[in-house]
Amino acid sequence: MGEVSLFFINGRIAAAESSELREADVLVDAAGIITAIGTGLPAPEGAEVIDCAGCLLVPGMFDVHVHSREPGDEHKETLASCAAAALHGGVTGLVLMPDTSPPVDSGNLVKSAMDLVSEVSPIPMHQSGCLTKGRQGTELAGFSGMASRGVPMLTDADRTVSCPDLMRRCMEYARDFDLLVTSHTDTPALSKAGVVNEGRVSYRFGLPGIPGISQEIAIDRDILIASHTGARLHLQQLSTARGLESVRRAKEAGTKVTCEVSPHHLVLSELEIRDYNTHFKFNPPLRSVEDTEALVAGLIDGSIDIIASDHAPHTEFEKSSDFGSAPFGAAGLETTVLVLHDRFIRTGVFGWDLLIQRYSDAPRKLIGQLPVAISEGTAAEFFVFDPAAQTVITRDYLRTKSPVSPFIGETLAGAIRGTIVRGMWFA
Ligand SMILES: [Zn+2]
Repeated sequence: MGEVSLFFINGRIAAAESSELREADVLVDAAGIITAIGTGLPAPEGAEVIDCAGCLLVPGMFDVHVHSREPGDEHKETLASCAAAALHGGVTGLVLMPDTSPPVDSGNLVKSAMDLVSEVSPIPMHQSGCLTKGRQGTELAGFSGMASRGVPMLTDADRTVSCPDLMRRCMEYARDFDLLVTSHTDTPALSKAGVVNEGRVSYRFGLPGIPGISQEIAIDRDILIASHTGARLHLQQLSTARGLESVRRAKEAGTKVTCEVSPHHLVLSELEIRDYNTHFKFNPPLRSVEDTEALVAGLIDGSIDIIASDHAPHTEFEKSSDFGSAPFGAAGLETTVLVLHDRFIRTGVFGWDLLIQRYSDAPRKLIGQLPVAISEGTAAEFFVFDPAAQTVITRDYLRTKSPVSPFIGETLAGAIRGTIVRGMWFA
């Protein structure tokens, strides 16, 4: 908790319910509770005044797809550096993927992960569990132990459960324990050793391609198994227009399915990959311009429920190998709000209300948490955003241990001035 009250004056409050911004001062007491909201409020004695003139107060974002790398790969990222990156990006809560070393596949490992989080993280982090033991895709992980520890979701994190019989049993158990199954949709027999989208770019670069149907077949399969078993299914990282069409049809048919999209699949296509720059190597890969446009439309019409960064830290050394051998993924926690504001909010494609719905409200609801709003009597959980400022994305700007991002070198409109959560103001 902070030592004094914080008084945020002259700002405008953004909310999920409306694209209108409300001018108001916000008083947060030393315990981190919003005690007053209004215009012309007197400053209480001893309060630290934070002038937010020209700035917005935006509810904290929540990221359901984050790789922290601790334990096992602390040279890439630690829980502490991950939390610092999240706060720097306006993210006040997140779900950790279970692909650490060892992978989190039992109730005991969930408990030790959560113990570590409570020791080192200033923000709420929820530990997900594996679907299969060791993410090996051969036998079920410890569902009942993980359920008793309150895991928010089960996933093999960037790996598909290839065997349809095993995936069916995962979903049957998940249904019985009322757990959410989260699926990285891929068909390894089609993706093979692919590294970029199969098509013009893979041919031009002479790199092995990953066809769109690799994800689309897996989406269709998992939707069918979910519909057959009645399990709740969440699909990670949609990347193609046809995959999105399958989700639309499944939702219309009443299947309990939700899906997410990453910022890089919304704003970058395969055409942005130049000079074999491995910062643009993702799994699923960056797709065609048409796919990107379809994903933006799906985000706006609600077919895509959630934005998630897939924050996947790697060292610069690992990413400096050739395009074929470098690992997939990049850091995302610090750039998601900035990039989406720059490309979509600033240009009027959608408003703050939509970003808050898809990156703050819906992700919390997905794992049974209450959305956060800036309202009296609630805990302060928001960030201050200056739309008139600019942010230059450099390695030094990033607080993650992994200064690997496709947006390095870009100047983005807007800047995050600070984030408040649990009564602490991080500026
Ligand atoms: Zn991931």
